[in-house]
Amino acid sequence: MGKGFYISKTVGIVGIVLAAGAVATIIALSVVYSQEKAKNNENEVQLTTPRTTAATGLVPTTSGTITGLVPTTSGTITGLVPTTSGTITGLVPTTSGTITGLVPTTAPSNEPWDQWRLPQTLLPESYNVTLWPRLQPDPNLGVYYFTGMSSVVFKCVQETDLILIHSNKLNLTSTDGYQARLLGLGTTVVPTIQKTWMQETTQYLVIELKSKLKPGDFYALYTEFVGELADDLAGFYRSEYNENGVKKIVATSQMHPTHARKTFPCFDEPAMRAVFNITLVHDMGTVALSNGMETEKVDTILEGQAVTVTTFESTKKMSTYLLALIVSDYTNVISAEQTLIRIWARKKAIEDGHGDYALRITGPILMFFEKYYNVPYPLSKSDQIALPDFYFGAMENWGLVTYRETNLLYDSVISSNANKEKTATIIAHELAHMWFGNLVTLRWWNEVWLNEGFASYVSYLGADFAEPSWNVKDLIILKDVHRAFSVDALASSHPLSSKEEDITKPEQISEQFDAVSYSKGASVLRMLSDFLTEPVFVQGLNTYLDTFAYQNTVGEDLWKHLQIAVDKTGTVLPLSVKEIMDRWVLQMGFPVVMVNTTTGQVSQKHFLLDPDSIVERPSPFNYEWIVPINWMKAEVEQSRFWLLERTGINEFPQNTTGNEWVLVNLNITGYFRVNYDTDNWEHLLNQLTENHKVIPVINRAQIVDDAFNLARAKMIPVTLALSTTKYLFQEREYMPWQSALDNLDYFYLMFTQTDVYGFLQNYLKKQVTPLFAYFKNITEDWSHVPFGHTEQYNQVNAIRVACSTGVDGCQNLTLSWFRQWMDLPNHNPIHPNLRSTVYCSAIAAGGSDEWDFGWQMFKNATIAIEADKLMSSLSCTKDRNLLERYLEYTLDASKIRKQDATSVIVYIASNPDGQTLAWEFVRKNWEYMFTEYGVGSFNFANLISGITKSFSTESELEQLQQFKSDNAEIGFGPGATALEQAIETTKANIKWVTENLTEIKDWLMAETA
Ligand SMILES: [Zn+2]
Repeated sequence: MGKGFYISKTVGIVGIVLAAGAVATIIALSVVYSQEKAKNNENEVQLTTPRTTAATGLVPTTSGTITGLVPTTSGTITGLVPTTSGTITGLVPTTSGTITGLVPTTAPSNEPWDQWRLPQTLLPESYNVTLWPRLQPDPNLGVYYFTGMSSVVFKCVQETDLILIHSNKLNLTSTDGYQARLLGLGTTVVPTIQKTWMQETTQYLVIELKSKLKPGDFYALYTEFVGELADDLAGFYRSEYNENGVKKIVATSQMHPTHARKTFPCFDEPAMRAVFNITLVHDMGTVALSNGMETEKVDTILEGQAVTVTTFESTKKMSTYLLALIVSDYTNVISAEQTLIRIWARKKAIEDGHGDYALRITGPILMFFEKYYNVPYPLSKSDQIALPDFYFGAMENWGLVTYRETNLLYDSVISSNANKEKTATIIAHELAHMWFGNLVTLRWWNEVWLNEGFASYVSYLGADFAEPSWNVKDLIILKDVHRAFSVDALASSHPLSSKEEDITKPEQISEQFDAVSYSKGASVLRMLSDFLTEPVFVQGLNTYLDTFAYQNTVGEDLWKHLQIAVDKTGTVLPLSVKEIMDRWVLQMGFPVVMVNTTTGQVSQKHFLLDPDSIVERPSPFNYEWIVPINWMKAEVEQSRFWLLERTGINEFPQNTTGNEWVLVNLNITGYFRVNYDTDNWEHLLNQLTENHKVIPVINRAQIVDDAFNLARAKMIPVTLALSTTKYLFQEREYMPWQSALDNLDYFYLMFTQTDVYGFLQNYLKKQVTPLFAYFKNITEDWSHVPFGHTEQYNQVNAIRVACSTGVDGCQNLTLSWFRQWMDLPNHNPIHPNLRSTVYCSAIAAGGSDEWDFGWQMFKNATIAIEADKLMSSLSCTKDRNLLERYLEYTLDASKIRKQDATSVIVYIASNPDGQTLAWEFVRKNWEYMFTEYGVGSFNFANLISGITKSFSTESELEQLQQFKSDNAEIGFGPGATALEQAIETTKANIKWVTENLTEIKDWLMAETA
C-alpha cells in the first residue's frame, strides 16, 4: 500500500546509492541518444536551437562546444555529471538534507509559490526525460522505486528571478545544496541560484535566482530524482498481476490530470505544451512503451543488471497530462493498415485471442475519425494497452491509450454483448480524443466538459461505424441523456463550464470529471449537431482543428468556427451559435417544455426534481433557454420550432382534433423534458395501448422517463406516470423496458421496507410474463440467444425481472444452470450475456456453499470481465455474515483490488439486505479510507451517491448530516459535491414517500386485483 509518498530516509539513500552508478551510465547513454534524436527530429521542432542544445546539455564530457552550458554554480564540466565525482552526498534526497529547512511553514500568502497557477513568465519548449523503474523491490525494504533525470528547455517570456516548476512526491537530488541546475543556451548569461526548496502544498519546486532571466532567452533546467513506484494509480505507478502463480509487475502511468509532476519536474498545466524526448531503462526481456514509436533499443549492463535502454521518437508538441510510460513483459497483436495499430496485454490474454476484437475495430474506428474530422491521424502508431490496475476506465494518452483490462479485452466465450459494446464505445471515445483533446487542447480544466462531452458524444458515432447492426447511437439516450437529466435536475447541479479562476487546486480539477461534464456535455453537443445538421457541425469542427492544431483553445473558439460554418452554408438559426449554446453551457439545469394542445401555448421552466428546492446559484440567463423543438403530430413529423422565451406564441402547436396527439422532442434530440395537457397525455397513452409502434422507440422510452420524473416534480399525478407502463405487456423493445425498469427502480428503493413492495412485485410480474414467454419462444426454450444486440439486452431484463418477481419457471431455470456449473466448475454452461443475472439470482437464493463457490471462481477467474460479474454477484447474498465479510475484504487489497473497492461497497448497498451494513461500514472506516487509501483508490463521489441512494427516512437524513459534521475535518475530497447532492436527494425522497405511498399502493392494488 502506498502510504504517503516519500520513501523513508534510509530507503531513500539506499535507493540513491543503487541509482548512482546507473545515473552515470544513463547520462552517458542518453547523451548519445539525445544527440541522435536531435539530429533526426530537427525538422519537427519549431525551435531547433534550444532543443538541440538541450540535448547536448546532457553531454558535457563528450562535446567540445559546451562552454555556454556549464552550470554557473560550479563553473566546471564535471558539475553536470555528479556520479563521476565518486560521492553520494550530492544525490541524497532532499528530505534527509537541510534543504527542507528552507520550506516556509507559513500559511498560503500572495507569494507566487502559494498560487495554484503557474505564473506566465516561462514557457517550456522541450524535455529530455530518462526514467528507470525498478520492477523488483529493494531486497531489504520491499520498496519499489524509480530513478530519473530530466532536463527541460524553457523560454523566458517575462523578466523574472524565480523559476516555479511542478514537482510532487519526488526526492530531488541536491548538488552544491541546490535541487536543480540551471543552464543557458548559446551565449545566454545564466543567473546564479540563490536557493531552492519544495513548496509541498502547491506542489512546486521553487528556484530563486540572484539575478533575472531575460525575456527571449532560452534556459535548461536539469534535475535528478527518485520517486516511489507505488501502487497508488497516479503518476508513474506500479500494477501487479499473477501469471502461472508468478507475481508480475507493470510500471505504468496515469498523468492526467495533475500527476506528471509526480514523475518528473514539469510545467504541469495543459497549455504548457512541449516536445518530450523519452528514454526508458528497463530489465532485459521487458518491453518499454511511450507515446512515440520506439526508435532504438540497446542492451547493456547497469549496476550489474542486464537492462535495455529504449528511446522513443520525439512527441508532438503536447500537454504533460497526455504522456504515458509503460514497462511490462506484455506482448501484442498488430495490424498495419494506414497506421500501425498494436493491442498490448498480458501474454496469456493475447495468446487466448482476447485482444483480437479490439484489434479488429481499432483500425476502422481510427479511420472513421480521420474521415469525420477530415484531419489525418498525426502519429506513426496507435497503441492500446490493457492494465490490471487502472483508476479510470481508460485514458487517451496520445499514441498510447491505457485501458482497464475489462474495457479493452474481449473473450467471445466469456464476454457478454454489453462487454463488447463497452469495448467498442470506449475505444471510440479515446480515439476521438486523439484530435479533440490531444491535437487541440482546452486551455484549462474549467472546460473539461467540452473535451469529455465531445468524446462521449462521438464515441457512439465511432462505435456505430465499427458495429453498424447494433443501433448503438440510440443508446446514448439511456446511458448519457438520462444520466445527465438525473443529476442536472437538482438545485445542487452546476453549469457545464466554470470560471477559470474557480478551478485551481488538484482536487477541484478532479471534481470536474463528473456526470455533468461527460453526459450532459454529450447531450448538448448531440443537440447542437442535430440543429446545425451533421455536415455543418463537422465542417466547423474541421476548421477548428485545422486552425488550432498543436495549440490550446477556449470553448468559444469552437463556437466561432461552428458559426463560420453556419454562415458559409447559409444555415438558418434564430441566434448565433454562441448565444444559443451559452444558455446550455453557462447555466446549470435544463428546461421542461410545457405544451398545451388545447390553447396552443408552449412555455418553458427550469426543471427541478424537487419543486421545493431553492436555487441559490444565479444564472446570467435567468434560467431560460433557447430550445430547438423537433416534433410530430399524429404520426407526421413537423418542421422545427424554436422556443426563444419563457412563453411561446400561439403558432405552436396547432390545435389538435379528436384523438390526434402531439409528440414533442422527437428522438430526444433536445436536452429537455416535455409535459402536456391532460388530453394530450390521454391521447398518447391510448396510442401506446392501441398500437405503440407508431411512436418512435426512443420516444416510447422517453414518455415513460419524462412522466416518472414529472411526477417526482409534482407536475403530473404519479398514477399518470405508472399508466405509461401499462402497455409494456405488449412491448418487446429494449429501450422502453429499460427506461421503465430504471424508473421503477426508484419505487423499489423507496418501498422495499414497506407493504407496497408486494403489490409492486405482482404488477411487474404481470407485465413481464409475456416478455419472458416471448424470449423463451424465440430462443427455442433458451437454447440460444436472440440475434439482435438490444434484443439480447432485453432478454437479460426479461430473465432478471421474471426471476425476481417469481414468474413460473424462471428461478428453476437459473438455479439449474448455476448448479450444473457447481458440479463441473470447468464447464460453465451459462451464456455470457446471462451470467450476471444468473449468478446474482443463484447466490441470493443460496447460502454459503453458493457464495464460497462464487468467491472461489472469482479468485480463480483469469479474465477480468468474468471476475467483475462474480464480484458484483457476490453482493447479492441475503446472509448478513457473508455481506459483512465481503465488506471487510474491500480494505484488503489482496482480496479486492483497490480500484474495485468502491464498486463492491456500492453493490452491497444496492442489496436491500446489505444497505445498512454498507453505510455503517463506510461511516466507521471513512477516515481510514480517506487518509490511508486516498483519492487514487476510492471514488468517493460514487461511493457516497451509491450508498445513500435508497435513503428515505428522517433517521437516515440525520445520520447523513451527522456524517458530514463528524468528518468535516478529514474532508470528503472529490466526494464533497456528492455529499451535498445526497443530502438534497434524501430530503426529496422523504417528502416523496410521505406524499405518494397511499396513491401508489391503491393504483397497484387496482391493477393487480
Ligand atoms: Zn475522455
